[in-house]
Amino acid sequence: MIKNFSAVLKNKIFLNEKIIYLNFQTTNDFKLEYQAGQYLIAKIPKDNQKLNRLYSIASYNNDKTSFDLLIEIVDNGLGSNYFKNLNIGEKTEFAGPAGIFTLKNQKTAKVFLATGTGLAPIKAMIEKLIFDKFSCPFYLFWGIKYKKSLYFLNEFKNLKNKNKNFDFKICFSQEKEIKNDENKNFFDLGRVNKCLVDYFKNKDLIYNDFEYYICGSREITDSLKNFLISLNINKNQIFFEKF
Ligand SMILES: Cc1cc2nc3c(=O)[nH]c(=O)nc-3n(C[C@H](O)[C@H](O)[C@H](O)COP(=O)(O)OP(=O)(O)OC[C@H]3O[C@@H](n4cnc5c(N)ncnc54)[C@H](O)[C@@H]3O)c2cc1C
Repeated sequence: MIKNFSAVLKNKIFLNEKIIYLNFQTTNDFKLEYQAGQYLIAKIPKDNQKLNRLYSIASYNNDKTSFDLLIEIVDNGLGSNYFKNLNIGEKTEFAGPAGIFTLKNQKTAKVFLATGTGLAPIKAMIEKLIFDKFSCPFYLFWGIKYKKSLYFLNEFKNLKNKNKNFDFKICFSQEKEIKNDENKNFFDLGRVNKCLVDYFKNKDLIYNDFEYYICGSREITDSLKNFLISLNINKNQIFFEKF
């Protein structure tokens, strides 16, 4: 059920020059009863009004009074720059949770395809599966352009250490080569769809054994969905959120 509440900014980290990660604590002990994958409606002050901007909850934890957001700063963007400039201790109004991009079948293996900050709801879903000790395979293919903008590598390595059914590949779409790197096994070159195909081929996996969760920009999400359909994956096994 969508409720109005406010939350105080507790921490803000610049993960790279365009991406911020924010941690909020709800006020008055408000308990945010959300499902991993859902989003919040942030009320952004502009002149004398409040304008809505949607942000996926990028974390899953059991205490329900704190949550994280992962936001890309858009040039001249109202909402993203509001959060960029928000100071620790300041309060923001939200409504939520909302959305139906949530984990579906509890007994089906899962593939997550994310690009950029489309990782936000998927990170929450993966944290939830780790929390639940999910017993089927689940794989993340996350696309970013350049290795220099990489963040969260250690976070995902830690998640992988917690559940042997989880694996992930970070797919650099604009790099030409991956130099000798201790983390090479977690990296691949090219777009997420190409990395998915290579991974499935190497491990002899069957596409229709999995549910697919896609999140990213409208164009990329549509193109990934069409790509999965071209592999004869059933449409009712594909779930997506378009930013
Ligand atoms: C369900 C849902 C969940 C979302 N979750 C997240 C999330 O977790 N993290 C996140 O970062 N975003 C998320 N978004 C996108 C977010 O709601 C905003 O659209 C985004 O932050 C831009 O808003 P803004 O107010 O900063 O820019 P606006 O003031 O709306 O736009 C300013 C200008 O930038 C252009 N613009 C807008 N977005 C982009 C872009 N991405 N790249 C280039 N130009 C752009 C616009 O056309 C406009 O000209 C989500 C969207 C949806 C629908």
